[in-house]
Amino acid sequence: MSYIRDVLNEEHDGSAVHLRGWVYRTRSSGKLSFIVLRDSTGIIQLLASTRKLQDDKYREISSLTIESSLEVMGILRKDDRAPTGYEVEIEDFKLYQRNENYPITKDQGEEFLLDNRHLWVRSREFTAMMKVRSTVFKAFADFYFKHGYYEVHTPFMVSTAAEGGSTLFKVPFFDEEVYLTQSSQFYLETMIFSLENVFTIAPSFRAEKSRTWRHLTEYWHGEVEAAWLHNEDMMQVEEQMIEYIVQEVVKNNTEELNALGRDVEFLKRIKAPFRRIRYADLIKMTESWGLGMKYGDDLGADEERAIMVHFDQPIFVTHYPSKLKTFYHMPDPDNPDEILCHDMLAPEGYGEIVGGGERISDLNLLEKRMEDYGLNKDNYYWYLDLRRYGSVPHSGFGLGLDRLVLWILHLDNIKEAIPYPRTIRRTKP
Ligand code: ATP
Ligand code: MG
Repeated sequence: MSYIRDVLNEEHDGSAVHLRGWVYRTRSSGKLSFIVLRDSTGIIQLLASTRKLQDDKYREISSLTIESSLEVMGILRKDDRAPTGYEVEIEDFKLYQRNENYPITKDQGEEFLLDNRHLWVRSREFTAMMKVRSTVFKAFADFYFKHGYYEVHTPFMVSTAAEGGSTLFKVPFFDEEVYLTQSSQFYLETMIFSLENVFTIAPSFRAEKSRTWRHLTEYWHGEVEAAWLHNEDMMQVEEQMIEYIVQEVVKNNTEELNALGRDVEFLKRIKAPFRRIRYADLIKMTESWGLGMKYGDDLGADEERAIMVHFDQPIFVTHYPSKLKTFYHMPDPDNPDEILCHDMLAPEGYGEIVGGGERISDLNLLEKRMEDYGLNKDNYYWYLDLRRYGSVPHSGFGLGLDRLVLWILHLDNIKEAIPYPRTIRRTKP
């Protein structure tokens, strides 16, 4: 038994081959029937004819409908008219399932395809996306393993909020209530005191009420925390990581990128270092683009889209006014109204893919910031303990992995970058 890719790469005209998969397309003309077979690695044309098959066998195979599953034995023939340059003349076959009506046909609407996502995940374009996504997740982990980081795992059911109350999901938990985690950051921070450099890949949950093209309520979050690193050190790690992931996709997924119409040359040019722009300077730059922004305005999806059409590499935006971010960010000693943080914004209008920075390591300062934000310190006793016992400077970040896939593939909506998108209106299938 072989995969289609291996047959196409390794076998020759006249080889006997044995394949299995699903019917992708069919075309019949009297005594000849063409079936395009699909497996996880590619497609190949099969030829069924009464020359090789008994009448009843021929009738069985020539009437197959798409997505039926089968196994075929046959002879490989070079044929320039076939979609992948070869054809397999069928000598025998075994049907696993003959389908009646496959629900997905051409030109179906977005909602129908979302209702039938469990079938749509078989489509060629979705398969290409999932292969790229797989490379992105692997490359993220590989990058950190290569740099001496440890992978750790942290709880999804938590009793402390990392990113503010408005997007918390509450879940009944016996006689209490817990939240679904918005970020693994605080737990990662606890682990730098033993492992120093840690990462995790885990879902984060956010009750995002404003529906945008880049928000999910459940998304995959690549998070890193490292002892001793300052804001600038962490940006250097991140730009190397993003370059590495993008170039791994270019190296391993050219076929998928081409199938999805992505400009591969553009991706090849993504190279560290990325430009650093202070928030205040960025606001000045936006004046010349007529965006009508002033110091203190937050950057949302629309603003970042308008800004990032002007760049063809990711950029870091640093030194946000502290009131735009949450409590744990380290104030800039030269100007305590701004913080030592960074967002990485993706080019071509995609905007934020990473949020990170240096964490406050001083107990008194952190307690003061929690008071300013109206947080109950008792809930965070363990987070504060990290500043009581052996505190060290440290930095970290969170990368939205679905958003990274969205940008790398130049997709229109984050729902196209994940198999089962969870949004305010959708939890099925
Ligand atoms: P945004 O401003 O776009 O809502 P955020 O600043 O709230 O994002 P962070 O708390 O900094 O996001 O989270 C870290 C990263 O996680 C973001 O840079 C982004 O890539 C990703 N992310 C955040 N929220 C979502 C979401 N709802 N869906 C998908 N990815 C998300
Ligand atoms: Mg952010």
